[in-house]
Amino acid sequence: MKYVLVTGGVVSGLGKGVTASSIGVLLKACGLRVTSIKIDPYLNTDAGTMSPFEHGEVFVLDDGGEVDLDLGNYERFLDIKLTRDNNITTGKIYQHVIAKERKGDYLGKTVQVVPHITDAIQEWIERVAAIPVDGEEGPADICVIELGGTIGDIESAPFIEALGQFSYRVGTGNFCLVHVSLVPVLNVVGEQKTKPTQHSVRGLRGLGLIPDILACRSTKALEENVKEKLAQFCHVPLESIFTLYDVPNIWHIPLLLKDQKAHLAISKVLNLAGIVKEPSLEEWTSRAELCDNLHVPVRIAVVGKYTGLSDAYLSILKALLHASVACRKKLVVDWVPACDLEKETEKENPNAYKAAWKLLKGVDGVLVPGGFGDRGVEGKILAAKYARENKIPFLGICLGMQVAVIEFARSVISLVDANSTEFKPDTKHPCIVFMPEGSRTHMGGTMRLGSRKSIFTVKDSKSAKLYGNKSFVDERHRHRYEVNPDMVERLEKAGLSFAAKDETGKRMEIVELPNHPFFIGAQFHPEYKSRPGKASPLFLGLIAASCGELDTVMNPASVHQHLISNCPKSVFVNGTSKKAPNGMADVRYNNGYCNGLHTR
Ligand code: GLN
Repeated sequence: MKYVLVTGGVVSGLGKGVTASSIGVLLKACGLRVTSIKIDPYLNTDAGTMSPFEHGEVFVLDDGGEVDLDLGNYERFLDIKLTRDNNITTGKIYQHVIAKERKGDYLGKTVQVVPHITDAIQEWIERVAAIPVDGEEGPADICVIELGGTIGDIESAPFIEALGQFSYRVGTGNFCLVHVSLVPVLNVVGEQKTKPTQHSVRGLRGLGLIPDILACRSTKALEENVKEKLAQFCHVPLESIFTLYDVPNIWHIPLLLKDQKAHLAISKVLNLAGIVKEPSLEEWTSRAELCDNLHVPVRIAVVGKYTGLSDAYLSILKALLHASVACRKKLVVDWVPACDLEKETEKENPNAYKAAWKLLKGVDGVLVPGGFGDRGVEGKILAAKYARENKIPFLGICLGMQVAVIEFARSVISLVDANSTEFKPDTKHPCIVFMPEGSRTHMGGTMRLGSRKSIFTVKDSKSAKLYGNKSFVDERHRHRYEVNPDMVERLEKAGLSFAAKDETGKRMEIVELPNHPFFIGAQFHPEYKSRPGKASPLFLGLIAASCGELDTVMNPASVHQHLISNCPKSVFVNGTSKKAPNGMADVRYNNGYCNGLHTR
């Protein structure tokens, strides 16, 4: 096993995660098997209890691990399935060490950060790196480790110390350190400034880590003299300094690294020179170019709570993008703040109310994502109602499915106070109820989490067709509430179809309105398994329905076609990039490496 450590300097938000994933893609394209580990030096055990406002979305893995969203990047870029242990946090390491101490495993010794915490970190890395994640047997060849935060953070000190020791432990030729840094350009002189990178490399060296490769974020390619200066002051060979300059979409990053021969530099450090093959990235190249050149828009409203921060819905955005590219459409996302659709807002802030409804009424399809807590729920219910009544394609995910059921009960069965007990515990008509196995007192890791079977019960449903007429699917879950089994019959009689259920047949997994062009709700989160070349079927359905092409993708042969190949050799004529009214609707501006500094 060989390791590539990716650290970050100067500022946060440089796109370390995307860079690390792209290095993985490049090495995979060289014929190597790649896994990854993300280290988050915060004290939370996992990301499950963290607000999407602070850290972006919580990503959910097959094993139910609630992890940092960077693991989503790794899964999507490398097409792998990670485990909860692939996300290391300070909380997990301390919990592990303290549990050992309580058991008496340290035999009376004083338990300290060095060596006990640092040893635990190294053992964890070695253990997890050996877990196969690509469906093949045996450990991967390379483990890409991303250290969260910025060099110099107090929190990451034990990890830096552990990684310094680890590089000795695995030995030269088995460890490569890529330091991602920033080279700003000062407007006044227009000069690329190397000083911040010099300082950050000095900091890194001071902590005992020696960079082998510098990956410099900048708006444009680094000038030759700037590279020479960096090489001289940072003691890194010229051919090991790369620029990650702004590109139209993040799928270009592996290509950028390949063009600058990063694979050769990494192979040299890892003693793989001459062993690995030339990277083949044809599919990536055509997809990246295709994405840049799409010009027929498909406009989707995402009606959510965290609409000011696109990272809060990162996997949804990616899944929409994958599906749009598969349908050869340019994705335009209109973020609609759910509470702005509510009556209250009409009184308090009529302009926001008008703007939200105007946005909603201008889209081709509506997506209501998952969520917790009652803020904006009534707005989401109104969005579902609007889509149902006006035959606008609708996809509800988790809470989005629950609100669709509530809306149906209210409008179609006239149960005006129908609600979820999450929002109104004493509702007379609880359509959505707390699941018996959940915990009301402990929030961390107590939901119905991870991959569970959904068995299709209505064979000719749209969702079954979109999933290629499989008898069941394994999608990832993250919820505490479910459709009330006691109300299912009544809802069905009124025309709501439950197209898939869990193995017991008691838990509803997919709802559909058969007499609507496309109205589907899923209790699970299909977005977590969407991949660039393999769009998630329900997202593909939403996008296709939104551009009037649902029949094409529901035909099993053409779904297959869409899923396996969305990369024609020819590219489209470049279209103009339209900026949406609220300023963040063009997904390419939320897609990182564009418009100045990286998002993700
Ligand atoms: N709050 C709802 C539940 O716990 C929905 C969760 C979600 O959307 N992820 O069931």
